[in-house]
Amino acid sequence: MSDLREKLFYEQKNGYDRIDTAERLRLENYCRDYMAWLNEARTEREAVSSAIALAEERGFVPYVPGMSLKAGDKVYQNNRGKALMLAVIGKKPLSEGCVIAGAHVDAPRLDLKQVTMYETDELCYFKTHYYGGIKKYQWVTIPLELHGVVALKSGETVDVVIGRDPEDPRFVITDLLPHLAQDQMKKTLAEGITGEGLNILIGSAPYADDGKDRVKLAVLSLLNDQYGITEEDFLSAELVAVPAFDVSEIGLDRSLIGGYGHDDRVCAYAELKAIFDVEDPERSCVCILADKEEIGSEGVTGMQSEAFDCFMADLCESQGTTLRRCFEKSFCLSADVTNAYDPNFPEVSEKRSESKVNYGMGICKFTGARGKSGTSDASAEVVAYLRRLFEREGVVWQMAELGKVDQGGGGTIAKFMAKRNIDTIDAGVPVLSMHAPFEVVGKFDCYMTYKGVLAAYADK
Ligand code: MN
Ligand code: MN
Repeated sequence: MSDLREKLFYEQKNGYDRIDTAERLRLENYCRDYMAWLNEARTEREAVSSAIALAEERGFVPYVPGMSLKAGDKVYQNNRGKALMLAVIGKKPLSEGCVIAGAHVDAPRLDLKQVTMYETDELCYFKTHYYGGIKKYQWVTIPLELHGVVALKSGETVDVVIGRDPEDPRFVITDLLPHLAQDQMKKTLAEGITGEGLNILIGSAPYADDGKDRVKLAVLSLLNDQYGITEEDFLSAELVAVPAFDVSEIGLDRSLIGGYGHDDRVCAYAELKAIFDVEDPERSCVCILADKEEIGSEGVTGMQSEAFDCFMADLCESQGTTLRRCFEKSFCLSADVTNAYDPNFPEVSEKRSESKVNYGMGICKFTGARGKSGTSDASAEVVAYLRRLFEREGVVWQMAELGKVDQGGGGTIAKFMAKRNIDTIDAGVPVLSMHAPFEVVGKFDCYMTYKGVLAAYADK
């Protein structure tokens, strides 16, 4: 009877029961490197620049239109410092399609407004406009650091990072003390902290004169000394406040990783490591680190941009084929995180379908919300391909779905890849507290996502 069950039932096993000591060691090594990278890659710009540095160490060179490419060549294209495409040319021609893995490197955060700085009641603040889907109450009373660029009228660009170095000052958004919060506490979580209330405290000591806005003047004078900027320069700046938490192991058994921006840098890193490790691939491998996913993949650096098509069309032309021939035979893993079942909130999940921590890479046949609205819904044949591939290559994986049917949902870059006539499926790491300032993932799932991407790249 139990044999029959084993034969007929679909049963899952905890990932740690499915790997040996050697694999466990590889897993720990992989995660140590990921943690170090995530600490450095706190914005899409930093993710791109650090990815380029790693790629160049491994022989990738900037793609130049018209350059001739042969099997084994490694090129990359930097899209405006905010998105990146890397390719390893395969033995087969691009007319037979390529293997694409696409992740995004933007993450929810607080963008400074363009007219951002003000003084009130002898305290100085930055006004912000949040980026991506956040629960606003999570972003007050946590240490923040400031990252980004100030583009000057001269054409020069100034990089800003304040708060990453342990010696640096940090920033914060204050919240009401409980003693005076009886009205605030009656509001919903969505209303208790407002968007216009997300004002970052940046100074309190006045400049030593008797003019107006003395605190603001003192703060601006410090910025001018260090970065040579004036208040007007904020008009052409992209400065973002992100949580000032270091990435750390979580749990007495150190089996989890806590940090800001796992969504989706945990998949971006998996792709990067996989394209670095793939050896002499049959089909060309393409790795995308996209921007703007959190706000709908818009803009020149988002996945809806033709920057990707231009890069791929160039590669295709160099082999005398067309983009459409290549795309229709290509396969894309839309590598993005998924929700991990959280026992603290069982009411939003349908346990059988939700991915679980330590059960491996989460495969989402469909995303979308309420009746699959907005999903590209991968074909059964594509899921079957992954079942075959992952079983052969020892990739531990699980099915994933984001919440109960009528509860909510989400989107990824998958539909924009599918729209290009590329067979696409979502796959990635299950995350606890997704979009929070400090997200949590299981080390096991991080490593299996890397193995999953590598298996796709290396498939014959
Ligand atoms: Mn994501
Ligand atoms: Mn997200």
